This record gives sequence, C-alpha cells and structure tokens, in this order.
Amino acid sequence: MKRAIISDVHGNLEALQAVLADIRGRGIDEIFCLGDTIGYGPNPCECLDIVIDTCQICLLGNHDQGALFDPEGFNTGAERAIFWTREQLESRGGKPDAVARRWDFLGELPRIHRDNIWLYVHGSPRNPINEYVFPEDIYNQKKMEKLFSLITKGCFQGHTHVPGVFTENLNFLAPEDIHDVYEIGDPKFMVNVGSVGQPRDGNNQSCYAVQEDNRVLFCRVEYDVGATADKIYRTLDLDDFLGDRLKEGR
Ligand code: ZN
Repeated sequence: MKRAIISDVHGNLEALQAVLADIRGRGIDEIFCLGDTIGYGPNPCECLDIVIDTCQICLLGNHDQGALFDPEGFNTGAERAIFWTREQLESRGGKPDAVARRWDFLGELPRIHRDNIWLYVHGSPRNPINEYVFPEDIYNQKKMEKLFSLITKGCFQGHTHVPGVFTENLNFLAPEDIHDVYEIGDPKFMVNVGSVGQPRDGNNQSCYAVQEDNRVLFCRVEYDVGATADKIYRTLDLDDFLGDRLKEGR
C-alpha cells in the first residue's frame, strides 16, 4: 500500500498542484485529504474541484465547517478570510452545477475515517475537527494518554500545520530528527502530516506524508510561494499577513 495523505490545503492552488505532481511521480495508489481544503488562501473553488476529483477520502476541517456554518472561535483575520471564502463559493464559482457540487461535497464531508487499525482525522482522535495536538503536548501526559486510548495503532491528522510523529511513550519526532522516515514499530503513534498550503514549521515548502506498509515518509515540495502571496496581497479581504506567513513558513 502506498497512500498519500495531504491536509490543510487552505485554498493554495500553486501548492496543491505542486504536491499532486510530486505524488504522481511516486507511484501512489490513493490520496486522502484530512480537511481544511479552504480558508485563508485565494483559490478555494479551484482547490475544492481538484480535491473532489483526485482524493478518495476527504474529511471536514474547522475552516471547511466555518464556511458551511457560522465561524466560531477564529481570530479576526481568519474569520474575514472565511467570509470571503464563502462569498467566492457562493458567487464566483462558475456554472450553477459546479457551485452546487462544491457545497454538496462540503456538506457531506465526514469528520473521521477508519481503515482497519488506522484512524484519520483533522484535529485529534478525541475531537476530530477542533482539537490541536502540538509538539509540546508530549508534556501533557493526561491528554496524550486519553488520545492514545482512542487509537488502535496509528492516527493521521493535520490542523496544527506542524509535521511530525507522536509516539505512545511520549516522544515527538520532527521529520528532520528522523530523516523524513518513520519506521512503524510496536508502539502506537500519531502522525501529523503537516500542511500543503500553509506550513508553519519554519519551512515554507509544502508538506505531506506517504503511508506505506511499514513506514511513513514526510515529503517537502517547493512551489511558487510568491505567486500565491501576490494573489493574497491583491485581495482586500485577505490580510497581507496571510501572504507574509507563507513566505516564512509560520
Ligand atoms: Zn488548517
């Protein structure tokens, strides 16, 4: 099995296209998307169309949910981006059936996917849409024990935009600690696959993971960050900060 797992595309078309080209070059069987396909970025309609056509599984993220319902718990810039995203989906999405297809897709996204011993969520096994699991949470034993009690063997997630592996014995392994390869052993683990469209680990290249039978690979892909940032700078309702952060990977 060779399964690409992408997450947090956030309407970044240049990043998504670069990642899909990379995936095509690796002989991969299927693609799962862990949510937040939209929100923040300048191309929500285009990204949704691509995900609908190329991903076998796609989950609901908090920004997708924010576009569907009233956004709750977002900061001002993120909330403004969600309202702008909703407007794009409503009025700038092309023909009526293309618009309806995107809304139907968003409205039917599952919160969780299980495949045998593997679990897929946007946030965490306990709160699949909204809970963050950050590297420093390895010091929160109670939280981690609870999360691992909900996992059979491995869980794949996104949401923080910080890639890495959490192991049951409370370690966090950043991709650079393990040369981008996690060998699956006996302990349970959670893999954060990072973000395609807005990485926040100090590396501005898109990030995704490949799940194989006995290991997980982290992949980084360069894309035209400047082109995406320029689109953001030209859009009044998207804060300039959203472009700046792409360049810095934060
Ligand atoms: Zn996100």
